[in-house]
Amino acid sequence: LPVLAIVGRPNVGKSTLVNRIIGRREAVVEDTPGVTRDRVSYDADWAGRAFTVVDTGGWDPDAVGMAALVAAQAEVAIHAADAVLFVVDATVGITDADEAVVRVLRKSGKPVVLAANKVDDQRVEAEAMNLWSLGIGEPFPISAMHGRGTGDMLDAVLAALPEAPPERDAEIGGPRRVAIVGKPNVGKSSLLNKVAKEDRVVVSDVSGTTVDPVDELITLAGRQWRFIDTAGIRRKVKNVQGHEYYASLRTNSAIERAEVVVVVIDASEPMTEQDLRIMNTVEEAGKALVIAYNKWDLVDEDRRYYLEREIDRDLVQFRWAPRVNISALTGRHMEKLVPAIEAALDGWQTRVPTGQLNAFLGRLVAAHPHPVRSGKQPKILFGTQASTMPPTFALFTSGQIESSYQRFIERRLREDFGFVGSPVHVQVRARQ
Ligand code: GDP
Repeated sequence: LPVLAIVGRPNVGKSTLVNRIIGRREAVVEDTPGVTRDRVSYDADWAGRAFTVVDTGGWDPDAVGMAALVAAQAEVAIHAADAVLFVVDATVGITDADEAVVRVLRKSGKPVVLAANKVDDQRVEAEAMNLWSLGIGEPFPISAMHGRGTGDMLDAVLAALPEAPPERDAEIGGPRRVAIVGKPNVGKSSLLNKVAKEDRVVVSDVSGTTVDPVDELITLAGRQWRFIDTAGIRRKVKNVQGHEYYASLRTNSAIERAEVVVVVIDASEPMTEQDLRIMNTVEEAGKALVIAYNKWDLVDEDRRYYLEREIDRDLVQFRWAPRVNISALTGRHMEKLVPAIEAALDGWQTRVPTGQLNAFLGRLVAAHPHPVRSGKQPKILFGTQASTMPPTFALFTSGQIESSYQRFIERRLREDFGFVGSPVHVQVRARQ
């Protein structure tokens, strides 16, 4: 999905605006200074078009320093977004920090929509017009709190966003996009160095490419791959407050840009919530997934016993993802990584012919009919694969299908057709 980044100095009302745009109340907490948030991107739609909102709020500028804050926000805007929504508090007017943001935004060349917030009624509208002097176009007077003016602003946002992420269309037939993600210290940069060896090319060095300089082209198994945001892996930012928050933004943006994601886990340590959260993000984003258990050289009998129990307990949901047990240090089983990535991409792109799908559904329903409740039996009339990358199925039914039955169908689809390494989505369109 195209990505909209929301930037602005603290307390201009970014969180309220994000809530307003995504139409949910509970999703975003108040802007508590110093609080780092995990979830920073949200799905939204307006006028039938879907996009992703990335909230760059949540930092305490006193702790990080206003300059660092502005720079970090701008960097996020540049790398992660297709367009930027810049929020200014119209009742306060233009501050130095706002001007700093404008400078970086100008340099980025990304389309910017300017929101003049806190225009709760007509009287303040004149203040909003002062923001013309920022020199980045028309200020949209809005009230994030009351919803005033946000419709017009969102129309402008849609106009600024590309119809589809430009990358996907432009790069068909180009190198496949791989992201390496994981918690700090699991061995991402070691892994990257191991796979890259000598032949890495920093993308910005390739003449005639207009692509992101944070990626690298790496030849593996006779084929070129684009490794996404390797700059984020190589350049380690440590001991900066808000660093974790920033790292999670980068992770999400890398996942969004990738086709296949290698989630690196430290096999020598107990698995954590954070590992699982990252895998969940990959699944939700609908990307192909490979799980790399790194530091296998440190795994002894004992640890192995617990590891297997962790896998049984916590990884049930990701049983479909290929797993490789590697050591970036010794090189153990590194040769299994590329075949796993290729298998996951294959699964991600699998297309089931409609005839075959309906034959499968017919057999399945005959053998395991939907449970009958209150005298009615919902029927599956017809199924089709709506899209690949990831495989997405549309089932047309009469009556509501229970979610447990829907999961059952998902499971059986996997058993019959594979989809190794790929999330599978099933959408039900019920006719009453
Ligand atoms: P990143 O933060 O995920 O990029 O992790 P690094 O690649 O910087 O690795 C963190 C630490 O783990 C470093 O001290 C590495 O040398 C070490 N490390 C990485 N991979 C392995 C491995 O396979 N085995 C062992 N024993 N140590 C590793």
